[in-house]
Amino acid sequence: MARRIALILALLLAPASAQTVRVKLHGQARPAALELEDYVAAVIAGEAGGFKSMEALMAMAVTARTFARANLGRHRAQGYDLCETTHCQDLRLSAVNARHRAAAEATSGIILWYAGRPARVFYTEHCGGHTENAAHVWTTRSLPYLRGVKDDFCLSAGRHNWKTSYSLAQLAEVLSLPSVDSIGIARRGDTGRVRSLLINGRPVNAENFYLRLGRAFGWDRFRSTFFSLELRGQQVHFSGWGRGHGVGLCQTGADQRGLAGHDSTQILAAYFPGTKPGISAQDIHWLSSKTARIDILAAPSTPAAPLTAAAERALARAEQITGLKSQTRPEIRAYPGLDVFRDATGEPGFVAAATRGRVIHLQSVARLISENRLEAVLTHEMLHVLIAGRATLPRWFHEGLVLELERPNAVPPAPLAPTTEMDLLRPRSEPRLRAAYSNAQAAVAALFKKHGRAAVIGWLSTGLPASLSR
Ligand SMILES: [Zn+2]
Ligand SMILES: [Zn+2]
Repeated sequence: MARRIALILALLLAPASAQTVRVKLHGQARPAALELEDYVAAVIAGEAGGFKSMEALMAMAVTARTFARANLGRHRAQGYDLCETTHCQDLRLSAVNARHRAAAEATSGIILWYAGRPARVFYTEHCGGHTENAAHVWTTRSLPYLRGVKDDFCLSAGRHNWKTSYSLAQLAEVLSLPSVDSIGIARRGDTGRVRSLLINGRPVNAENFYLRLGRAFGWDRFRSTFFSLELRGQQVHFSGWGRGHGVGLCQTGADQRGLAGHDSTQILAAYFPGTKPGISAQDIHWLSSKTARIDILAAPSTPAAPLTAAAERALARAEQITGLKSQTRPEIRAYPGLDVFRDATGEPGFVAAATRGRVIHLQSVARLISENRLEAVLTHEMLHVLIAGRATLPRWFHEGLVLELERPNAVPPAPLAPTTEMDLLRPRSEPRLRAAYSNAQAAVAALFKKHGRAAVIGWLSTGLPASLSR
């Protein structure tokens, strides 16, 4: 009977399924599940590794996170969320350093919102002095915050001009024409970029022209649709500005703005006018406070004193259970309710709390107090903070370990079920999620029995043995 009560208690505990991004990594058969903040740090390493300004890196972190949130499930048909190439965002997991991590952490959970939804954002390497209207590049996207803006900052960085030339014969081949007899610019858009050329008296879409030349001769030569041209003999000489499609945040300009003293919010406002950065679509005046060891960010309606006291006790209890000392300051974010929690975390409503790295997200402190489980939930989440580390460990191992440390022997040891990992990463219903928690704990209990508690805890820093990670 005692065992049965313990089991029910364990299942009622708040899940800690952090929002994850399933990414197809080169050379790996199965998609990897990355925590969102690890994903963001890896995108910064891949797409903005050369930035000098920390504020610009933070603006990039918000942009990369917003892109991920708005495009989650883009590759659903292939069994994952996002690819690791520039089609989605370029990931460099192995190149992530402390600065990239710091930029992700300093903006943790913050995305750009427009009209109550995550904004659809883009970024470009160098806009050449004026960003482009998205509608000129992708006809379907005429969003007000993706209209072109003037940008003097990237010009001050230099390296904005490019020159290249091709023979008429080369152009004919790339364009699949028998010959090119005449070429000129037919029309420019209001941002200065070429919209169409006139070749042999016929209009040719400039974006198409740019893509064909890029594919044929490499992206380093013909760099954008922001150009002029001159025909001399059989050679066409192009000179242009900037690099890339030009839509959204100009990375070179963002870095220069940061170096000039602009903060990340100002940088984002310059390139995405009308959007609002935040952890939710709603305007909330967050109250921030600190205890000796914990940072707290709370909506004004949060019962602050009970939360603070419970958080301190939970951290102490988690340290006692694991024998580990917290290496970071855990941060608690207490939301005013379900809508904002959902906006901020992307978690479904039946999840009461979620932990990502050192940040614990709580759906409703008042509800947890009324259900008399605030401290239990916080202890569970603090355990996650303490054992957070290697992103490559599967979710079932983290969850199962936390549960087994909290309530040893609450469930009989059992093998890992094939559906458990996916049910933890993408919970489809509360009953399935509970079953997945129970099975994860049973699987870790089986590992404790076979390998010993200390060895299994040691895998947190060494990774799972090859026989287990498959
Ligand atoms: Zn993709
Ligand atoms: Zn620019």
